[in-house]
Amino acid sequence: MENFKVEVKAGKMLLGWRLKIVDRETVQITTGRFENWQKIIESKKEWIEHQLAKMPVKKDLLNQKIINILGENYSLNISLGNNDSLLFFEEEKEIKIRVKTMTDNYIKKLIDKKIRPKALKIIRDKTKELAERFEIKIGDIKIKNQKTRFGSCATSGNLNFNWQIILFPTDKFEHVILHELTHILEHNHSHRFWGKLQEMDPNCYKNNQWLKTDATKYFII
Ligand SMILES: [Zn+2]
Repeated sequence: MENFKVEVKAGKMLLGWRLKIVDRETVQITTGRFENWQKIIESKKEWIEHQLAKMPVKKDLLNQKIINILGENYSLNISLGNNDSLLFFEEEKEIKIRVKTMTDNYIKKLIDKKIRPKALKIIRDKTKELAERFEIKIGDIKIKNQKTRFGSCATSGNLNFNWQIILFPTDKFEHVILHELTHILEHNHSHRFWGKLQEMDPNCYKNNQWLKTDATKYFII
């Protein structure tokens, strides 16, 4: 038995096949009439599982009671209201969300929009702190939401981060920032890049592996 669902679509061709990752549990195969799709799935199993692990987990926020931000649990309080808002109560460790429409999609959109200023502050503060510690000159820091990328670095030294990295455990969060800071020094993934990153983050190889297999499980939208 596979750990994933297989959707089989008949293609017009006689031979040949195509694989598509639909979501975290589903792979779709389009095959020609004379192809044995089970055999193809079997031979590509490792690749499929690797791709599936990179897909974001769909979370049902309506049933979620807690959001963890850098190791701190915030209780999530969602209620219906006349307007949309999201407020952080630092002392109570609570996130209060008011929505005009109580659906999962609506809440996710609201969080995506309203949490960004807070996320940007957290990311900026940490990036500046680490850049100072390791004496790296940085440009602008911005937030972007890319589904599978965690950060990027331009040759100008400007840095972009996926805001959802604040949902990672602290060491993994710092690893993402250090990875991008290292790109200011080395614009590639050469041995020199990894050597420099390892000086700042001794667990960089393990953390990088974690990013590939576990990170998107922490995403909430
Ligand atoms: Zn990189």
